[in-house]
Amino acid sequence: GITISGLTKSFGSTVVLKDISLDIAQGERVVIIGPSGTGKSTLLRCLNFLDAPDAGIIRIGDMSVDAATAKRADILALRRRTSFVFQNYALFANKTARENITQALITVQGYSKAEANARADATLRETGLFEKADSYPAALSGGQQQRVGIGRAMALDADLMLFDEPTSALDPEWVGEVLDLMRRVAEKRQTMLIVTHEIQFAREIADRIVFMDEGRIVEQGPPAELLDAPKDPRTQSFLRRVT
Ligand code: ATP
Ligand code: MG
Repeated sequence: GITISGLTKSFGSTVVLKDISLDIAQGERVVIIGPSGTGKSTLLRCLNFLDAPDAGIIRIGDMSVDAATAKRADILALRRRTSFVFQNYALFANKTARENITQALITVQGYSKAEANARADATLRETGLFEKADSYPAALSGGQQQRVGIGRAMALDADLMLFDEPTSALDPEWVGEVLDLMRRVAEKRQTMLIVTHEIQFAREIADRIVFMDEGRIVEQGPPAELLDAPKDPRTQSFLRRVT
């Protein structure tokens, strides 16, 4: 499993994450919800040091990284155990769908080109995109691009998959196919930490929902508890606004 303890992050004088602690069991699907500007993306980005945390300890499986003393090698090792799906897909425009998937397999995971291609093709089949393997992102719909983004993360077979609002940049017509793919990833009992505004999807996919506000975890619980019987007034007022 994953253990996050005492994670703190500031940008200048603004404290964005205030002592976040969270345990995630192997195979657990945790969804984070909360108002805009509350630190949800920053939390995900701190977990693989896309943003460097100021303090805190991140444990994934048998490895432990203390933000205060993290060395480059620790950060790279942590990145090898996580995968990230971005809101804006973050595909390489000058690489095909297949190359977008093989790139990290080769440079981060150390696969040979042939192994990476075989793995990418298996993933492209699984995501229903095999016929688009040689297409560049500009020739793909938003939904297809994000499915490549998710396929890239799936191919890494990471201990923890991080999703930051994977559907919120999509035209409404493409949201369904991306959520369907995420459901399939979830069925494989991948450990997933997902930030989303899709409350109904969260209810369906999450083992646990975490409500964040102003850099803190306010409340958490199974969907039926957190969504239907929230205890904290901040959770109640947020849910009134979004549902
Ligand atoms: P949203 O729901 O809108 O995506 P969020 O909960 O993901 O919001 P974050 O993006 O984590 O919020 O931002 C939290 C706070 O940190 C905001 O006040 C934001 O302006 C600030 N922030 C985030 N990244 C940076 C940065 N690189 N430099 C300065 N401030 C930042
Ligand atoms: Mg965000």
